[in-house]
Amino acid sequence: MSVESTPVGSTLNENFESLMREDRVFPPPAAFAARARIGSEAEYERMYKRSIEAPEEFWAEAAAELEWFTPWTKVLEGSGPHAKWFTGGKLNLSHNCVDRHAKAARKDKVALLWEGEPGEVRRLTFAELHVEVQKFANVLKSLGVKKGDRVAVYMGMSPELAIALLACARIGAVHSVIFGGFAAHAISDRVNDSDCQVIVTQDLSYRRGSEVKLKKIVDEALEKCPGVRKVIVYQRAPSATVAMKEGRDFWWHEAMAAAAADCSAEPMDAEDPLYILYTSGTTGKPKGLVHTTGGYSVQTYLTSKYIFDLQDEDVYWCTADIGWVTGHSYVVYGPLQNGATVMMYEGAPNWPENDRFWKIVDDHKVTVFYTAPTAIRAFIKWGNDWVHKHSLASLRLLGTVGEPINPEAWMWYHREIGKERCPIVDTWWQTETGAILIAPIPGAVATKPGSATRPFFGVVPEIVTKEGDPVPAGQGGLLVIKKPWPSLARTIWGDAERYEQAYFSEIPGIYFTGDGARRDADGYYWLMGRVDDVINVSGHRLGTMEIESALVAHSKVAEAAVVGRPCEMKGQAIAAFVTLEEGYEPSEELKQELRQWVAKEIGGLARPDDMRFTQMLPKTRSGKIMRRLLRELATTGEVKGDTTTLEDFGVLAKLKENEE
Ligand code: ATP
Ligand code: MG
Repeated sequence: MSVESTPVGSTLNENFESLMREDRVFPPPAAFAARARIGSEAEYERMYKRSIEAPEEFWAEAAAELEWFTPWTKVLEGSGPHAKWFTGGKLNLSHNCVDRHAKAARKDKVALLWEGEPGEVRRLTFAELHVEVQKFANVLKSLGVKKGDRVAVYMGMSPELAIALLACARIGAVHSVIFGGFAAHAISDRVNDSDCQVIVTQDLSYRRGSEVKLKKIVDEALEKCPGVRKVIVYQRAPSATVAMKEGRDFWWHEAMAAAAADCSAEPMDAEDPLYILYTSGTTGKPKGLVHTTGGYSVQTYLTSKYIFDLQDEDVYWCTADIGWVTGHSYVVYGPLQNGATVMMYEGAPNWPENDRFWKIVDDHKVTVFYTAPTAIRAFIKWGNDWVHKHSLASLRLLGTVGEPINPEAWMWYHREIGKERCPIVDTWWQTETGAILIAPIPGAVATKPGSATRPFFGVVPEIVTKEGDPVPAGQGGLLVIKKPWPSLARTIWGDAERYEQAYFSEIPGIYFTGDGARRDADGYYWLMGRVDDVINVSGHRLGTMEIESALVAHSKVAEAAVVGRPCEMKGQAIAAFVTLEEGYEPSEELKQELRQWVAKEIGGLARPDDMRFTQMLPKTRSGKIMRRLLRELATTGEVKGDTTTLEDFGVLAKLKENEE
């Protein structure tokens, strides 16, 4: 098996020291709170308390807002890696996303609102989506796909991608989405790892003005995938441009034309697998997590409802690709279960120009906008003029996910995009957790720039030492989640042992996140960086986030990554990699200026020893900084670690050239 996981936490450090002082607080704007689902802190506190004191009652009530074919007999059974939710219950997530709305008042409401990169717009109502999903479910069945079979999906951001997922869920096939930007070998690794026999793809997709030839890449990948029997090809281009292999490849539109329009949803056991998804690969080789049906449905439903405060008039846009867990939980399953109108955009944020996102917001009157810090830092770099060309008046709520957001980037988002009117929900979670675990309830919890704030209902985070002892407020340590929650991934595909090893063995029986964090005196959580990335300077353990945020707070810095490299004197020295805002040039003076700046902002201990300017930082395809590659580079001058999910291979070569 070539896609396998590396155990996390192998370089576990104990407490982190926190150097950052951030004391700005933003209470929920009164106008927002007045019409929010949860509009006061007291109400959040009351619901949170109940969710912890009577979790089974709390989650049962949430589950009862969905439709079940057979009620569960037990809400929660077992604990740690063996916790099971809603046992005995039968439901279908596709039914809850589509049928539930299509048969009722929302049937003519737009479910998917899609814009292609070249500019076409498509709208599918819940009733129309219902037909498409049933038809495609029948197509899958006609190709011999049965409940429990794995179906790989390698597509661009088209409505058909969402339809493919909902169709798999409908018949109980386990989908394994492979991000549409991955190369052939990443596809074959994943297809073989989870033994997929069918793959759904498309001829091409449009990105930054060019064609991404998905089917061609699939053909190459399948040379190494003897198990794949059938390939379904959605035609995105105006006319067919790809080679089709007789007997193996089928056109989506031809198969759909022949398919019956009704296919009832398979009653799935709450613990039946729903999908497999590989992590981003920020800290090592991607892990294939398995999510199951009941708990995942309930928690993605409830978090979408409260954290995005979804209301019937909302036009909700999460910019994540469906190739990532954010796209699974918060483009498709969470919002659709809530009957929301979901905006989907096919292409790049800077095509044809740097203001494409803001144009989409205005054109479609987007109300809730959810993106990643990496995107926000890019918008800042491109300059405010692009933003100011648009009104953004429809927006009422903003969100971020994927990395800690640097406080200065948060402030920019708040000011320039939210016009100081929209709360920001900084949502902390992981592929493994299935749903958001820490984030503000926007009408109830005051926000602080750079903090994911407080836990969602039913979630009990704790900051501990590596022995599992709680650390005092204000001190950094390991972030663990103490009690079970419904949407946790149940296993790593084909490797139950590794699952327990990676997540439940560092602190026996307790879920270990691999992230470092601190909790402040108000009970707010501040993510400090990956435990694997902690830098040990003269016996002081520093997270990466605070030093990076200090750098980003400098007016000439666009992005920063810091890593430790061995140093005889100090144990580790701090190496900073910095990209500059447009209009500034690297210089020796600027290096000194930035080193001084960090020392002044957060203390001499954090002053970077090395300062390197670079055009770009190495990132995963999901936009996260890959510090482990920088650390290798700073330490040995070479990179040997897993780079399968690296966004741009040219970056490493460039960084090496810059080595002094
Ligand atoms: P791998 O597990 O393969 O190394 P990954 O951890 O990047 O990859 P994901 O599951 O996509 O894969 O990312 C989850 C991680 O992203 C979290 O553990 C955390 O480090 C980071 N993260 C996500 N959201 C936030 C947030 N709001 N604040 C801080 N960190 C975040
Ligand atoms: Mg991870």
